[in-house]
Order: sequence, then C-alpha cells, then structure tokens
Amino acid sequence: MVNDTTRLLGLDGLVAERVELDATGVPVVHLATGCEQARCCPQCGQRAVRIKQWTTTRPRDLPVGGRPVRLRWRKRRWYCPTPACPRQSFTEHVAQVPARARLTTRLRQAAGAAVADGGRTIVQAARDHGVSWPVVAGAFTAHATKVLPAEPEPVTVLGIDEVRRGKPRWAWDEQAGSWTTTADRWHVGFVDLSGGQGLLAQVEGRTTVAVTGWLTDRPPVWRDQVQAVAIDMCTVFKSAVRQVLPHALLVVDHFHVVQLANRAVTEVRRRVTLTQRGRRGRGADPEWRMRNRLTRSAARMPGKHVDRLVDTLEALPAPIGAPILAAWNAKEDLLDLLATARTQPDREQIHRLLHRFYARCAATDLPELHRLATTIETWWPQIQAFLTTGITNAGSEGTNRVIKTVARDAYGFRNPENQRLRTRTATTRRHRGQLNPA
Ligand SMILES: [Zn+2]
Repeated sequence: MVNDTTRLLGLDGLVAERVELDATGVPVVHLATGCEQARCCPQCGQRAVRIKQWTTTRPRDLPVGGRPVRLRWRKRRWYCPTPACPRQSFTEHVAQVPARARLTTRLRQAAGAAVADGGRTIVQAARDHGVSWPVVAGAFTAHATKVLPAEPEPVTVLGIDEVRRGKPRWAWDEQAGSWTTTADRWHVGFVDLSGGQGLLAQVEGRTTVAVTGWLTDRPPVWRDQVQAVAIDMCTVFKSAVRQVLPHALLVVDHFHVVQLANRAVTEVRRRVTLTQRGRRGRGADPEWRMRNRLTRSAARMPGKHVDRLVDTLEALPAPIGAPILAAWNAKEDLLDLLATARTQPDREQIHRLLHRFYARCAATDLPELHRLATTIETWWPQIQAFLTTGITNAGSEGTNRVIKTVARDAYGFRNPENQRLRTRTATTRRHRGQLNPA
C-alpha cells in the first residue's frame, strides 16, 4: 500500500495513488484514505461499514521540493453503525486533514511558526503560504499558546519597565473647554534580566495594581527567588515591588539618572537663553551650537573638545555661560559617581563623589539643579544598589525596542491581547532556540 510518493509526501493516514500534471504543469496528487481509524465514528468510535457517499476534498498543503502541489483526497461519507448515536453520518478525517479543514495541519502550523518563530509579519506569512490574513492570525495564536511557557522559570533579577502602546489620542471636551486624553495606553513589561527568558509578560496600564496583580499571580516559590528588581525612577513600580517582593533589592540604573541629569542641563540652557536673549536659541548662539556636546559624557570626548567647551562657556556673557557651566559640572559630577559602578567602589569614595555633586547643586541658585539633587536624594538607596551590584535594566530597554519594531512592522495593533502575544514570541525567540545559526 505504501509507495514512494506516499513516503515523499509524508501525510500520515493518506496514500498517494497517482500524480498528474495539470494544464499549467502543477502536480495534482490523488489521495486515498490509508488509515482504518478514519472509518470510526468520531462520536461513538464504532467502525462504520455502510458508505453514504463519496466526496473529494482539496486541502491546501506545503510545497513539495519547492513546487506548489494540489491535493485531491477522494474520501467516503459513512453511516454511523450505532442506531442511538446522535452522529448519523460522518466523513473520514486524518490528523493532517481534520474534518472541514481546507488546509493541512502542517501548512497551518508552518504559517503560525513563520510569525511566532520566524519573525515574519502576518501579511508576509500569508503571502508566503498562499493563505489569508485571518487564517495566519489564527494559526499564529494557536502556535504561540503552544510554544510559550505558561509559567516563567525562576528569575533572580527581574526588570520592570513601561512601554507606550500606540499613540496617545486626545479629544476636545466641550463642557470643560479643554483637550482630554481618550487613549493613553501603556504596557508594563516584566523581563528576565538574569536568564535568557526575555519578556516574561506584559500587563495593561501603569498602575500599582497592574504590577502587583501580575506578581501575586506567580507562585510564592517563584517570588521568593527574585533577589533584585531593576526599575526606572517610577514610584508606582517602587511601591508595587515593596508590597509584593519586600525581600528584593530595588535597583535604579545609570541610564535613567544620566537622562535626568542631561534634561536638567538642557532646561538650564533653554531658560537662560530665553531670559537673557529674549528668544529661543538659534544657530548664532554658541550655547545652542554646543547643545549636543553638553549632554555627552566628557569622559568619552577628546580632551581638547572638553577644553574648548569650557572655554566657550567661559567666554559667553556670565549670566548665560555661568549657569550652563554649573549645570554641566553637576552633570559631570554625577557621571563620575555613576562610573564607579562595577569597580567595587568603597563607601568613602562614593560618599566623597556624592557630596561633591550635592555641594555643586547647593552652591547655585538654579532650580533645575535643586530639583535634580532632590530626585537623586529620594532615589539614593536604589542608585547606590546599582553602584554596588552593577545591575541594569538594559535588558528591558532592549525588549522595548523589539516591542516597538514588532508594532511598527504590524502597522499598529488594535487588539492588546494579540500585541502581547506577538511581542512575547518575538522577545523569547532566542530562549526558545529559534535564533540559532543552524
Ligand atoms: Zn457514532
């Protein structure tokens, strides 16, 4: 019964009887049922003996040897032998071609895997497999739920980060006479920073309840294993972690601190230009021309560039140059402090550098620097934890980039459930062994 063509085709339960070429040269494979189980009633399991009629089904399948093929399965419709069975008749079906299926199971699986494991968009996977968009979307969901683990494996360092989902939308409120936000959707992502599991989960909304909700859903054993949590300077995350993971060390890494310090420098520069020159900065202003250099780390600049930067600021009229130089110095003090991370700094050294930064901020009357110093003070325990452990949330930031890329490739998502599933499959590809060179 089993011939070479059947073996080559590899559709379990179906036998290739002959292959013809149609008018356009496409192979047409005529199939017959080769499985006794197909004759058994799906409801009562009894083996049927009386044929009701013959039908032909044309399920679409994967290409064979790179060529598309057409399948023609001539199959029987049987009368169920059990008189009391509610299923009076049934057609034959095999695992690769379920009842009423217009696609083979393996084609559907391949289309779903192209999206979940191959990183293809739904549109492209649909084109590649000659099926429709909804078919691929359904196949993706089925494949993703099968390959994604229901529960994350143990994590020792957890990253929590937020990412905006789509663009915020505003609407004019007639009664209040102002613009109000109608859609400002955020996802909070949980990332495995110690292992390779990538994005563990995403939850909607950036509230304490959203974060504690996901964490309390995990088994206590899993929660106990989390030793450190990296967050950005967000009080929502801080209080959520305190509540649910009271034993875990909270860490704020340098990225967000540097960002904050650079923002203070930019704010000072813009304010003094505005108050001293009476307008916004423009190309003729030296402080405007050096705006990008001001927010770069001096340690990463050639020495002569740093000298020139300081010279230019000192040559400016004092009401403009002096505040910018003070802000720039405070930012550099903070960078020096952060640079001690991963160098096993002693308490004395950290204390000295921190004090220098605070003193620099206190010596000025710049509100931007006072605010910066207050924020650093508020978050000092978490920043200090970064200096001693060197834990960063960079893994979460990398995940955010993948989330954005997936969303752009898809031209946005309407359904947050789909978006979560897509980003989870995209960020766990390496861990699931889908990015190996082989
Ligand atoms: Zn039956």
